[in-house]
Amino acid sequence: SFIHTRSEQLYTEALEHIVGGVNSPSRSFKAVGGGAPVFMKRAQGAYFYDVDDNRYIDYLCAYGPIITGHAHPHITSAITRAAENGTLYGAPTELEIILARKLKAAIPSLDKVRFVNSGTEAVMTTIRVARAYTGRNKIIKFAGCYHGHSDLVLVAAGSGPSTLGIPDSAGIPPSIAQEVITVPFNDLDGLKQALERWGDEIAAVMVEPIVGNFGMVMPAPGFLEGLCKMTRDAGALVIYDEVITGFRFHYGLAQTYDVFPDKAAIEPDLTALGKIIGGGLPIGAYGGRKEIMEQVAPLGPAYQAGTMAGNPISISSGIACLEVLEQPGVYETMDALAATLAGAIKESADRHGVPLTVNRIRGSFSTHFCSHPVTNYDEAQDTDGEQFARFFRLMLEQGICLAPSKYEAWFLTTAHTEADIAETIEAAEIAFKAMAR
Ligand code: PMP
Repeated sequence: SFIHTRSEQLYTEALEHIVGGVNSPSRSFKAVGGGAPVFMKRAQGAYFYDVDDNRYIDYLCAYGPIITGHAHPHITSAITRAAENGTLYGAPTELEIILARKLKAAIPSLDKVRFVNSGTEAVMTTIRVARAYTGRNKIIKFAGCYHGHSDLVLVAAGSGPSTLGIPDSAGIPPSIAQEVITVPFNDLDGLKQALERWGDEIAAVMVEPIVGNFGMVMPAPGFLEGLCKMTRDAGALVIYDEVITGFRFHYGLAQTYDVFPDKAAIEPDLTALGKIIGGGLPIGAYGGRKEIMEQVAPLGPAYQAGTMAGNPISISSGIACLEVLEQPGVYETMDALAATLAGAIKESADRHGVPLTVNRIRGSFSTHFCSHPVTNYDEAQDTDGEQFARFFRLMLEQGICLAPSKYEAWFLTTAHTEADIAETIEAAEIAFKAMAR
């Protein structure tokens, strides 16, 4: 078993100075029995090394952005080169055009784009733009979808807050909360009712087109088509939050993914991006139809700005990351490794009588401790958090790092190897055996 002496010391120290000892609540181990989270020292490829020199195979992948493995040489050298040319100008660069072009080439719904610093900012601004464009105030979102920590979307906000038992954050005025209507994911009837009731007040329907925040959950056949049609019929805009799903399953977004036969029928008006498009550095982006995006200053009346926005280091890192992902076979390899891993985990759990539902989409999958399917947030909540916590600890102590939340997915990278997968399968076998006892 691993020794965590230094992590425990640092956690005690961190608690004195940093609220909860962590700079994002999802990093806390509160939901998996508490105590010190593992403090990391460095990461390389598929591996993390903690301050006690334990090595872990990383499936957390920083909650999504790390898809080429840590410290990928192509990205690292792009970052270094950028830093040597100055870190921030407060003036435009050609780099921003290069990344914008790359995004547009992969995403037909993006006529115009704007770079920001986080997924939260990207989502927050899509809502402002939709309100400016429609002259309406309310939005509809889906229970369990997380769209960052801005006021409006923290209602019924899924994995992060729910893991810590606060599905609806304090500090949000009722006047703001009442501008959000929540509907269960995959429930077109629920959406229809909400649109009928509040139709002419709805500025936008916001959705993760493939959910990454209560496990990996596909939209039911026809769900996105129905959502887009009903939303437009009500005069509202469709906003896709593709902060997790962007460039995660293939070189493109969920909205351009081959599993959806009629792409025109599911095309959104606005899209929020983040995570992978920054190659591990802070970034966000939003974009969409020209006439909607032209609501944004300096062209239009909707204001959005950022001192750090489009900074040359994040942009260079993002360009380099997409260059790695453009290489042939990259996604196929992650897909194949994840299929082996997810299949073996399910088989091992079954053999030991541990109820487990595995949802896999290409190189990402979720493991819910339950025997029912997980297609919406209620089903994801109705899973065994204590079993997950045991599994999480048993894996951690064998050098396998997962997110400390029963809702989060496992992510593979281009750096994971067959040997890593074999090691992980062995660890899972030992974990399920212990849990069956
Ligand atoms: N949208 C989705 C779908 C996300 O998963 C997240 C982050 N997990 C966000 C928005 C917020 O992004 P950020 O943490 O960069 O603000």
